[in-house]
Amino acid sequence: MKKRVAAYCRISSNSKEQQTSGDAQVMYYINLLYNNDDYIVIGIFYDVGSGLRTKNRKNYLKLKNIIENNGIDILFCKSLARISRDSLELIKFIRLLIENDVVVNEGGKMIYDLKDKMFNYEIYAVIYQWESQIKSDAIKWAYKRGFENGSVYMTNLYGYSSKNNNIKIIEYQANIVKEAFSLYLEGMSEYEIAKSFENRGYINKSGKTSWSYLKIRDMLTNEKYIGQTIGPKTYCKDIITGKRYVNDCFNQYLLEGSHPQIISKTIFDEVQRKIKDNKTNGYRKRKDETALARKIICGECGAFYIRKTYLNRDKSVRTYMWKCSKANKKQCEKSMSFHEAYIIDKIIEFLKNKNCKVVYEEKSVKDENIKYLIDKYIEKIEINESSIIIFFRG
Ligand SMILES: [Zn+2]
Repeated sequence: MKKRVAAYCRISSNSKEQQTSGDAQVMYYINLLYNNDDYIVIGIFYDVGSGLRTKNRKNYLKLKNIIENNGIDILFCKSLARISRDSLELIKFIRLLIENDVVVNEGGKMIYDLKDKMFNYEIYAVIYQWESQIKSDAIKWAYKRGFENGSVYMTNLYGYSSKNNNIKIIEYQANIVKEAFSLYLEGMSEYEIAKSFENRGYINKSGKTSWSYLKIRDMLTNEKYIGQTIGPKTYCKDIITGKRYVNDCFNQYLLEGSHPQIISKTIFDEVQRKIKDNKTNGYRKRKDETALARKIICGECGAFYIRKTYLNRDKSVRTYMWKCSKANKKQCEKSMSFHEAYIIDKIIEFLKNKNCKVVYEEKSVKDENIKYLIDKYIEKIEINESSIIIFFRG
């Protein structure tokens, strides 16, 4: 069946350069859409003017009207977020697209899961409008809206399903979550819980039976299990790549009773206390102290990574590797070892992205500058399968 298609271009000002780029966009869509036999072209809509004032944009309004009457299947645009600078208008527009099952082609890429991405767009839209003056209420609102629409977070949380704006408990998974909490209170470590789940063939979120220390620890510390949400923890800065960033610039909000709870608050608090206690008790100082000692945690078993020195045949070159301290005792078989230089590269890259001033003489944990940077800025590092996750100390 042929698809009914339309394109929309917004050119922000009347300047000559902008006009030319606008003409190029229109030409691009004329070529693209009219030359495709699978398409029935409803129109190529084009407005010049500020994105903030919709009433001056006649063609935008015309397009909206057609969408409201279920007149198109695919909308082509350069960037959905830039269709309107007015965040509320943009959100309404995206809602309209979702309600009328319009697939968006954004910059050449089809977006089939617009509904799932809605939350990102809402956050983005709010940030975009108040770039310099963040309105906390608006973010809270956008966050809450995202939730009511079946937040993107919940779809990935073990124990819940989120379909058609409806967050439900999955009984099988919820029982496993409850078991993890009670086993921990009975004195099992996260690692032991993971192993016991594997032995019993419990199915994880991806339908497999592998469990790790990290998965259990994330479970035990996730406040969503008591039916509340603190957020936003991450936000989507770049809607094109969909990359999420840790929320280190906005206030966080607590939403209580945002969804059904699996764990009681009493049990949850007890587990948090125990996790904290276990951390402080496990602290032992080693002689061969380097900046990375007790900073790298194995995602498989929860043990610390340790530094190993390797010499080449004539003992002229030393190589330093970091590996899980339990890897040799055959207690942790899946964990990966990493070259120290590689880990330090990652740390330097990470700190530069955080706009920290990075200077050093050699790429080694013995370098005083690197030591200082790690001490000051790195909370911990987790190695999960082949990825190195660095936590910033803000
Ligand atoms: Zn390990």
